[in-house]
Amino acid sequence: MKMAPIAALFLLAALTGCAGAQFRLPAISDADVNRASLAVAGEPSNLPKHYRTAEENRDMVNRVAGRLEAAAPGLCTYAHAPHCTFNVVYVADDTVNAQTDGTRIEIYRGLMEYLDTEDEVAAVVGHEMGHEIAQHVEEKRQNATIGAVLAGILMGGAMVATGYRDPDALNNSVGLGASLGALSFSKEEEREADLLSCYLLARANYDLEKAGRVWVVLSKMDSETHASWFDDHPAGPERVAAWDKAILEVEASPNKLPQE
Ligand SMILES: [Zn+2]
Repeated sequence: MKMAPIAALFLLAALTGCAGAQFRLPAISDADVNRASLAVAGEPSNLPKHYRTAEENRDMVNRVAGRLEAAAPGLCTYAHAPHCTFNVVYVADDTVNAQTDGTRIEIYRGLMEYLDTEDEVAAVVGHEMGHEIAQHVEEKRQNATIGAVLAGILMGGAMVATGYRDPDALNNSVGLGASLGALSFSKEEEREADLLSCYLLARANYDLEKAGRVWVVLSKMDSETHASWFDDHPAGPERVAAWDKAILEVEASPNKLPQE
């Protein structure tokens, strides 16, 4: 199959950009965002750090993971989650980050230091669980495969055109395609992970208002530093505003399940 490179790139963009949200995301207005901006501006530039021992951090993460996992089954079934057990680990590293590869959720010391209450830790862990429940990682992996196939097609076409065949060049192009497709979660997926986190926390009886402070803190940090968390996670007042709207939605929901 031979394809003009530009056409293939458009196809690649279309296929990898299609990952949307399964559930209805909270609508936020300019007024909501303005209110959230004020809350972010009200935080001190020098964000307070909370030092705990490795054991204390690990205990906290394990406690949060256990409580969220115990509260998750109703939401998992409803969302057709691929699994409903979660492998959550604390990583003693100063990177300000949390992430999941679909089988393992990691939360780093660098991020834990900025988190005060267990509710805030729960919001972050719940966000990563949200990515797994909504199968964002599987979608990402499929996109990576599609990217690899398309890059192979592109490179194969180029080699046919020039009469040049180099297996290493083809393999390199496949690798490049895979990483293009696996770049990051879409904005909708990030917002959906936050929404599912809010429902999970409500089901586990965490304090949603207190938990929401984490997005204010991260938003403040975003304007002060460039931590790795922000490479693949949205920060900013929009996120704070969306969480506030999600709280209202969750509190009004009789079955604590998001709308499709
Ligand atoms: Zn995320």
